[in-house]
Amino acid sequence: MDSQAISLVRSSFKAVAAVSDGPERLARSFYSILFACSPETREFFPAAMDVQRDRLVAAIAYVVDRLDETDAILEYLAQLGRDHRKYGVTDEHYTAVGNALISALEDFGAELWTEELDSAWRDALAVISAAMMDAANAQDGPPAFTATVIECTQVIKGVAVVRLQLREPFTYRAGQYVSVQVAARPRMWRYLSPATPCDESGVIEFHIRAVSGGWVSPAMVTKTAVGDTWVIGSPIGSLGLPDDDRDLLMIASGTGISALRAQILQLVDQGNTTRKVDVFYSGEYPCDLYDLPLLWKLADKNSWLTVVPVSEEAENPWWHTDEEPLPPIGMKKRITGKVGKIVTASGDWSGRDIQLVGSESMVNSTNFRLRAVGIDVSTVRSDPAH
Ligand SMILES: Cc1cc2nc3c(=O)[nH]c(=O)nc-3n(C[C@H](O)[C@H](O)[C@H](O)COP(=O)(O)OP(=O)(O)OC[C@H]3O[C@@H](n4cnc5c(N)ncnc54)[C@H](O)[C@@H]3O)c2cc1C
Repeated sequence: MDSQAISLVRSSFKAVAAVSDGPERLARSFYSILFACSPETREFFPAAMDVQRDRLVAAIAYVVDRLDETDAILEYLAQLGRDHRKYGVTDEHYTAVGNALISALEDFGAELWTEELDSAWRDALAVISAAMMDAANAQDGPPAFTATVIECTQVIKGVAVVRLQLREPFTYRAGQYVSVQVAARPRMWRYLSPATPCDESGVIEFHIRAVSGGWVSPAMVTKTAVGDTWVIGSPIGSLGLPDDDRDLLMIASGTGISALRAQILQLVDQGNTTRKVDVFYSGEYPCDLYDLPLLWKLADKNSWLTVVPVSEEAENPWWHTDEEPLPPIGMKKRITGKVGKIVTASGDWSGRDIQLVGSESMVNSTNFRLRAVGIDVSTVRSDPAH
């Protein structure tokens, strides 16, 4: 696609987002057209479509923003195509989705819809669906992987660590994420980041926070039992240890630590001695830093690893009555404040490979702070926010 077409696609999509109910209207219209023209596609989606609508708009925004980062976006689309095999999607469905999206966009901006804009969107959708279909069609393994829960522990109120035994061989890069479906919430796939690197014995671990009012995460946290079956899609994501030997700066909030912890454990397995890794592990309250004991243990044994605990609030909430663990000798004390501000005040991070994982607000505000101190944005990596 040429830059003119990319900019047309981007500005027309921004115009949708600029209207207060724009994204919701566009998504409603898209799904109505899709289900009317291709009724069989309704089966891919859950009964309640509200979250699905948000996810559609977020996914389009993510791709549209990166249309000029050719290699990165093609790799992301290929991963997404492989992941979509779990729905039983065929090439015809991609055509139906593309046509429904064009019709919904045209309806949305009827008076501004020009031939040029139409052709720019058709080009973009052709690139997107070709990248997804080619990757999906080139894959011959199972479209999804089943796993049995072997352990489930609530580590703090509302956060569970779930370990599963995969029934088929499954590989992923430490730092990637996967979509997961649990039996209690059929067709409601949610992304989770494995908290451990790929393991030959097929054990995989997830850390899950129950989002208040959420459809799936509260069920995953409170209803999971040993013996349950979970289904896992193909791995996605751009995070992971970089190919070069740059030092790393890792910044996580909440269960975002999973994607980073998997990479740290991989470095430990690889016997890293040279690559320095600084981890800023943040949460709202001190108790949100549930994984600190493990990180401290790793930092104690591996001098290349430094862990800085950060919480926005100085005190735990009333319902958390356990004492805050004291940092072992040689470990950094917890700092109170916003993680982005603390990271940028703590050192010169230029030249580091930087990874940011967590809530949208943490990712955006930390990115903003890093840019403000002159960090080259091309060294900062993050996947769609949690
Ligand atoms: C790349 C990626 C990796 C992820 N990895 C993990 C992980 O390892 N562990 C984990 O626990 N979660 C992770 N998530 C988040 C997870 O996929 C779900 O979005 C989350 O569990 C909420 O699902 P739900 O069905 O309970 O809520 P939904 O039913 O999807 O949402 C209900 C309401 O809650 C809001 N909401 C959704 N998510 C959040 C949130 N995080 N904070 C506040 N409000 C929210 C929605 O906007 C909606 O209004 C990841 C997300 C992404 C994009």
